[in-house]
Amino acid sequence: VEDTIAEYVKKYKNVDTNRDEVVIVPGGKPIMFFTILALVEEGDEVIYPNPGYPIYESLIRFVGGVPVSMPLVEKNDFRVDIEDLRQKITSKTKMVILNSPANPTGGILTEDDMRQIADLIRGKGIFVLTDEIYSRIVYEGEPVSIATMPGMKDYTIILDGFSKTYAMTGWRLGFGIMHKDIAKKVDRLIANSTSNTAAFTQLAGKEALEGPQTDIDNMVKEFRRRRDFIVERLNSIDGITCKKPQGAFYVFPNITGTGMKSVELADYLLEEANVAVLDGVSFGEYGEGHIRLSYATSMDNIEEALNRIEKALKKLKDK
Ligand code: PLP
Repeated sequence: VEDTIAEYVKKYKNVDTNRDEVVIVPGGKPIMFFTILALVEEGDEVIYPNPGYPIYESLIRFVGGVPVSMPLVEKNDFRVDIEDLRQKITSKTKMVILNSPANPTGGILTEDDMRQIADLIRGKGIFVLTDEIYSRIVYEGEPVSIATMPGMKDYTIILDGFSKTYAMTGWRLGFGIMHKDIAKKVDRLIANSTSNTAAFTQLAGKEALEGPQTDIDNMVKEFRRRRDFIVERLNSIDGITCKKPQGAFYVFPNITGTGMKSVELADYLLEEANVAVLDGVSFGEYGEGHIRLSYATSMDNIEEALNRIEKALKKLKDK
């Protein structure tokens, strides 16, 4: 299975690798946990996306590291502000975490972004944990892994898996690509905690990678249709504006026009409209002014949810 994953990574990420650099785990999350545990010591600084997947920050804290926010704001298309990153890098920086396409924003880092980020960290002994779990769910262009940038591969840990690309979330299957010395240490952590990933799950993953990929094309086509619909509907609601995300299956609309804070609005929509959305702040303080909606659900559900959100906001305005 390691060989199949290495071939897949070569083909889809353009990263030259081999079985010694492949670590198979139960889902994408354990790669975050085990590599942060293996590499980050007490007092080390780790730069992480904010808003971003909440587990990054909690894991950095868990191992005694110092979380340093990398703001990804709407006016910058939710991309990395290179000048800000330049200022955040210190002699204590041990790791930078990237996630493209991103949860919760759906934003993508361009090839030029990756080049500039690589230029900032190359040669400083800083590791990059690049969470590429949504890398096959992109609507424009091709995703670029920072591991393809000159001199970066030995310092990059790629996180990917089957939960999103193959909709196999419940199967708990993911993998990491990392330097073989790190892979050996991470393998030891796994062997002594979760033990290895079930063989039958791994074989199912092998089938997914080697079989026809048309289902992914169809899935992304359908996600695109839902994204276009949801963005258009959100923009037609008073108080909400929404940029079109370029990847993943989330929208991160700006809700400042409602006059409510993110948490307040999320609670209101749950109580009043029975619609569960996530407040932007649960992804970090730079998520304030936004809520996150997932469109990994049917068109009927999306339409119903948007009707209810619109009605609930109208009611608020009419009060
Ligand atoms: N990384 C990101 C950015 C995610 O959004 C998720 C799941 O929501 C994961 C990793 C974890 O995926 P898995 O279910 O494979 O552990």
